[in-house]
Amino acid sequence: MESTPILQLWVGDMGIDLEALRKRLEEERAQLLARAIPPPEPAKGDEADLAAMHQAREQAQWLANDQKQRLAEIDKVLARIAAGTYGICESCGKPIAPERLQAKPQATLCIECQSKLEKRRK
Ligand SMILES: [Zn+2]
Repeated sequence: MESTPILQLWVGDMGIDLEALRKRLEEERAQLLARAIPPPEPAKGDEADLAAMHQAREQAQWLANDQKQRLAEIDKVLARIAAGTYGICESCGKPIAPERLQAKPQATLCIECQSKLEKRRK
């Protein structure tokens, strides 16, 4: 467990306030959960109502998926902060550039590994 203080020192060096980031993510997480859409009421009434209800349900589904994705992203960053591995590339283990983390706090790969991954996808 000797590597954790070194990492924290290093993260401090790159000018990222982990505590502030954690707070911001936890707030966003709470907001996402508060905004979670409850499933629409069971349909009753005429067919126009049914169609509108169906549409609303599909929309809610889409939003919920989008929110779930963001929640998963936030949880991952929070877990990485807690584990002391935040800012370290998941693939090569090298530090991720601070500019990259500031622009995209949820990044888990350094720029080199990310571009390699994207090239492989094409
Ligand atoms: Zn990497």
